[in-house]
Amino acid sequence: MADKFFWADAIADRIIKEKGDKKEYVCASGVTPSGQVHIGNFREVITTDMVVKALQNKGKKVKFIYSWDDFDRFRKIPKGVGAEYEKYLGMSISDIPSPYDGSMNYAEYNEKKFEKSLKSVFIEPKFIYQNKMNKKSAYADLIKTALEKRNEIKEILDKFRKEPLAEDWWPIMIYCDKCKKDLTTITGVDGYNVSYECECGYNETFDIRKKGIISIRWRIDWPLRWRYEAVDFEPGGIDHSVYGGSFTTSKEICKKIFDFEPPIYQFYEWIGIKEGQVFSSSSGNALTLEEVGEIYEPAVLRYLFVGTKPKSVFQISFDNDVISIYEKFDTLEEKYFEGTCNPREKRMYEMSVVNVPKVKPERSGFKGLITSVQIGKIKNLNNYDKLRAKKVSIWLDKYAGDDMKFEVQEKIDGEFSEAEKAALAQLKDVLKEREYSEEKELFNKFYEICESSDLDNSEFFDAAYRAIIKKTKGPRLASLIISIGQKKIIKLLGTLK
Ligand SMILES: [Zn+2]
Repeated sequence: MADKFFWADAIADRIIKEKGDKKEYVCASGVTPSGQVHIGNFREVITTDMVVKALQNKGKKVKFIYSWDDFDRFRKIPKGVGAEYEKYLGMSISDIPSPYDGSMNYAEYNEKKFEKSLKSVFIEPKFIYQNKMNKKSAYADLIKTALEKRNEIKEILDKFRKEPLAEDWWPIMIYCDKCKKDLTTITGVDGYNVSYECECGYNETFDIRKKGIISIRWRIDWPLRWRYEAVDFEPGGIDHSVYGGSFTTSKEICKKIFDFEPPIYQFYEWIGIKEGQVFSSSSGNALTLEEVGEIYEPAVLRYLFVGTKPKSVFQISFDNDVISIYEKFDTLEEKYFEGTCNPREKRMYEMSVVNVPKVKPERSGFKGLITSVQIGKIKNLNNYDKLRAKKVSIWLDKYAGDDMKFEVQEKIDGEFSEAEKAALAQLKDVLKEREYSEEKELFNKFYEICESSDLDNSEFFDAAYRAIIKKTKGPRLASLIISIGQKKIIKLLGTLK
């Protein structure tokens, strides 16, 4: 079977084996939207997504949940956000306005952007907004358990700490009901009743089932929600995965405090960026899924992640490697429809494309489109190529190396030797003689021109490129001439003085 060949199928098998035969499996993922959600966070979602799809391919029912941890505190002012945001420090990120769109709260703005880009790559989980869950006291009973067992929790956490947690440590924090900040101290706990006082002077005792102002500390929050959602699988970044990291302690808290078997876990590595000419990570902006999607069409974008096991690091390329990545994808697609894929390749294709078409899509190569886009021949493209041409043109604009860019000249410019002029005149005659539709036929003519002139092959190509695109290299010459159109080239060569 394909299972042992493709990593997500292997994880799905493990889930079924260890969690038993269930009516529905729950796979989870999540992030704190404290800033732009970046491509590293996306690796987590797509890891879950592929496991979800693998389970579904085995005929299982799956609930895919994505948690927005948007009841976390606003802890620091991000780059580019004004100092007026200082007054919000300590409040929940769902209770302060977005600096970019006043109609949304801070968290919501980041959430909506990412949700939209997820949909574009065929990922549609059920989103859970933790600020709403906490505000409606959804976790009150489990919070009560955590409060009652706080010393046991503290013991588990202290095993991995140099300095033990303070005597008055609690597994929760409280946002003051008056000033909305978390500058509070818990002064007493009695069943469902919690008392606190705030730095602003306010104090009260409230019932945690009736007032949703509690934020659960991360290392308790994570296992608590595994229990609440009955999670069977969740991946985590390497920062959570080191020994003594939050996964180690959450696992133990999940079993001992919440009496629940922790989910199957898969850690995933960070993603690097292979920079193109313009993109620079030093600009301080984290790379987003949206930006990757400007260059990679959805199936190819998924293909980048599908082919790499979560625990391997890989780089996303924006330079000329983009061309070969598209070529590899096209080759895989071709093999798929020829029926020559091995089991692993077959699964990679299915996971990349998601909705596999019945017949092989007619796609032009990325490389060919680089020429088409630059000579403006994109009117009669089919829908697949239209989409791809859009990616090509953004890529040319933002990331492509100079060796990929050219502009067809209207008039020949520059110095040419007598021998070069003679050869270019011959080329003009060859093109006048008849129409070429086959690249190879025209290509053979170039050798005839060289033989009857004083130029060797490379000198001829050099002169032709300089005349047509004012560069010494370019796309395959015969293909370039046919694409531009012989008439236009004849006219251009006629401007040679
Ligand atoms: Zn207060």
